[in-house]
Amino acid sequence: MSKREIGYKNKPVYVVDVLKTDDGIFSCPNCDSIIDPNDESEVTYEILEIHGILDAKMKIKELDSLIIGCKKCRSKIKLTNLRKKVEYEK
Ligand SMILES: [Zn+2]
Repeated sequence: MSKREIGYKNKPVYVVDVLKTDDGIFSCPNCDSIIDPNDESEVTYEILEIHGILDAKMKIKELDSLIIGCKKCRSKIKLTNLRKKVEYEK
C-alpha cells in the first residue's frame, strides 16, 4: 500500500463506467463533488492505482482502469472501460 492510499483505507470503492460519463467528467458517487479526470492538477482527486498493459519499459501502454480517490470525502472510485474510451476517441 502506497502512502497516498493510507487515507483511503477501509473506504468503499465505487465503480464508474467512463462510457456512461460526459467526456469522463462525473460527480463523486458519495459526495457529488465534480471530478474531471482530464484535469491533471489533482485538486479534486488523486490517482491511487493504475491498471493497464505495460510495455518493455514498464510504462503503461494501454490503460484499462484507474482507481482514484476523491479528496473531499476520501472515497475510492474505480474508473472502468478506459481502453474502450481511447478507442472511441481515435
Ligand atoms: Zn467524494
